[in-house]
Amino acid sequence: MHLDTITKLLDIPNYREIEVTGSEYKNIYIVLERVEDTPPVCSGCGNIHGRSVHSRDGMIVEDLRISGKRVFLLVPKRKVQCVEDGTIRVEEIRWLNGRFTARFAEQVYRLTSITTNQEAGWYLGLDDETVYRIDKRKLEELALEKLDPVPAPKHMSVDEVAWQKWHKYVTNVVDVDQRKVIWNHRGLRQGEPR
Ligand SMILES: [Zn+2]
Repeated sequence: MHLDTITKLLDIPNYREIEVTGSEYKNIYIVLERVEDTPPVCSGCGNIHGRSVHSRDGMIVEDLRISGKRVFLLVPKRKVQCVEDGTIRVEEIRWLNGRFTARFAEQVYRLTSITTNQEAGWYLGLDDETVYRIDKRKLEELALEKLDPVPAPKHMSVDEVAWQKWHKYVTNVVDVDQRKVIWNHRGLRQGEPR
């Protein structure tokens, strides 16, 4: 298969394939390189500390199968020195999840939702322990997403409205985008429609 075709098929932003080996056997190995030399993201703090790179390395990650063959990607990885604590960290690559691509981890998670770790492992050619680790990491990720704090309103207005004819006024703090009263003089009124 033409390398450009494989690049399109894998569809990993900013990475292209430069070599494919072992495709005549059970596994396919695909060597990747970055298209554009974007600065590395520090895995310690999630920030970019400029372009300086401490050292370069590579890792093998498993991706989804192609035509029934297991696919392993050789991904270049850079190490950076975190300015927060001075430690050397491997760059963070968003489409990876440990030694697997995020989409592979997603597949494991979906499989373990319908069957046992052991059976999922048998199907994928992984041992139970590996399946358990991927599944646990995925669950932790999902739990973190759920724990995201309620976003602060972008636009608020404070309105004083007549409550009872002629007499009383109520002060409402309104989240304009959501059209909800988030506070009034009676205290917190979360989620009440205006
Ligand atoms: Zn950092």
